[in-house]
Amino acid sequence: MNGKIEAVIGPMYSGKTEELIRRVVRRNIARQHGMIFKISSDKRTKGENVTSRAGTSLIATTVDSAKDTLKFLGENMDYVAFDEAQFFCEDLFEVVNLFVKHGTDVIVAGLNLDFRSEPFDNVMKIVAIADEIVLLKAVCVVCGEDATRTQRLILKEGQWLPASLNDPIFKVEGEDVQIRYEPRCKDCWRGG
Ligand code: ADP
Ligand code: MG
Ligand code: ZN
Repeated sequence: MNGKIEAVIGPMYSGKTEELIRRVVRRNIARQHGMIFKISSDKRTKGENVTSRAGTSLIATTVDSAKDTLKFLGENMDYVAFDEAQFFCEDLFEVVNLFVKHGTDVIVAGLNLDFRSEPFDNVMKIVAIADEIVLLKAVCVVCGEDATRTQRLILKEGQWLPASLNDPIFKVEGEDVQIRYEPRCKDCWRGG
């Protein structure tokens, strides 16, 4: 039987990792076996685990690419989970399909939109073939409404300003300039 796909999407701070962990914990209680994957290029989270901002944490396996996970395909796991799906390349789609064909359920947690509010194509391709889609919302830090977007701010001359829409999509904090992200609703989100 084919595996099922659960897609958990939303902006930063919306509880994607928390939800991924909750789903994996339930499966483990049901005596299912599986693995959580995270990508090595994501330097923000250290150590061999995924941790939510709410403090929950589970052991994870760090891989260099989506294809890297295929070496575990033959283990006939009940489920696999990918956190921060947007950091995996386009081949995540193919890899998810291979697990599904193998009978393994796949949980994918990732950002819906980049900081320019453009869809992440590799995440949205998985949404298109998902059996269940969960759109999580954060709390807009400006007005308190539901937030579906992620605002990138850059520190310029002592002021936090919306990042230029021409900046690279992946820019991790602390690289060259000071960057901050916050969840915002459509009305409070600003493109610089
Ligand atoms: P994600 O993986 O989507 O970035 P996490 O699962 O790591 O989110 O963290 C979600 C948690 O972040 C919430 O349960 C809450 O405790 C905390 N949090 C902090 N700021 C906010 C906010 N503005 N909106 C929602 N949750 C927030
Ligand atoms: Mg997360
Ligand atoms: Zn708002």
